[in-house]
Amino acid sequence: MSIPVINTPQDEGYEDPLDLMDEIDELKKEKDASILAHFYVDGDIQDIADFTGDSLKLARDATQVKTSTIVFSGVHFMGESAKIMSPEKRVLIPDMLAGCSLAESCPADQLVAFQEQLRSEGRTFDTVAYINTSAAVKSLCDWIVTSGNAQDIIERVPQDREILFVPDQHLGRYLSEVTGRKMILWPGSCMVHEVFSIQDLIRAKRNTPGSVVIAHPECPQNILEITDFIGGTEKMRRHVMSIDKPTTFLVATESAMIHAFEKSAPQHTFVPVPGIMTSTGETCACNRCPHMARNTLQKVRDCLKNESPEVEWKDYFQKARDVLDRSLLQ
Ligand code: SF4
Repeated sequence: MSIPVINTPQDEGYEDPLDLMDEIDELKKEKDASILAHFYVDGDIQDIADFTGDSLKLARDATQVKTSTIVFSGVHFMGESAKIMSPEKRVLIPDMLAGCSLAESCPADQLVAFQEQLRSEGRTFDTVAYINTSAAVKSLCDWIVTSGNAQDIIERVPQDREILFVPDQHLGRYLSEVTGRKMILWPGSCMVHEVFSIQDLIRAKRNTPGSVVIAHPECPQNILEITDFIGGTEKMRRHVMSIDKPTTFLVATESAMIHAFEKSAPQHTFVPVPGIMTSTGETCACNRCPHMARNTLQKVRDCLKNESPEVEWKDYFQKARDVLDRSLLQ
């Protein structure tokens, strides 16, 4: 999948970002809408959002929104979570095709089949799902975690039960290490965090004395082994804010996150760690999520204007809500 190309003034159909922002502002009032934007969408969208954050913060923010409409600028499962948490609200998403390679690596029917297989073997387990899963998968689980609260939740799973962790094998392995709990790991991964170049990271670290590596726990073990600070996006943001001395951070997560870092801690320099193109093995700046990049100012404007696409309530959302409630809100 290719990353959408950003329009330039020379391109046909180009629209000035400042005009778009004004138009969105007007539409927000007219349609009684609030915008929630994930840290991984373009900085322009983060700048006009009413709430920005990681998955956990935005899921909680969705319950605090006072307007009747939410525009969720992120990916599809996040729009579903917003709808689940605020069923009375209309939830719009700028692009229905903004999916997630991680969520797609764990289809609900395959999870059901695997759970049945484990039960038939007499195993007793809790299924713990990372929030990057479809609502259908969430409804099949006992707990939902984000990279921000995963450790706390895993400590709540009774010691006499096994843990089936889905869908991110790297986050699961990391959590297993920090909590000391053995886990059955689903073999999924994120296409962005999977491809960071270990060679480039080692070289950048060597060439920039005093630099600090910060990485998301969705990264593979070889990256985390040479990382100075591991955390979800909000945890990383708080960490860089807590350091006064100007520092160069080598950042191993989706590169749009740098916008949020620069706004929160302008005293530092942030350098994205390059990725490796899986097709050719060459290094590239492919650390942008192509799904998140589907969100553009034009699409935010259009979905407000057309009141579409909308996330519709499905029967299994109620079961997913019960799991989200006890996992995220307590
Ligand atoms: S960065 Fe990875 S986990 Fe996040 S939405 Fe994109 S594919 Fe999914």
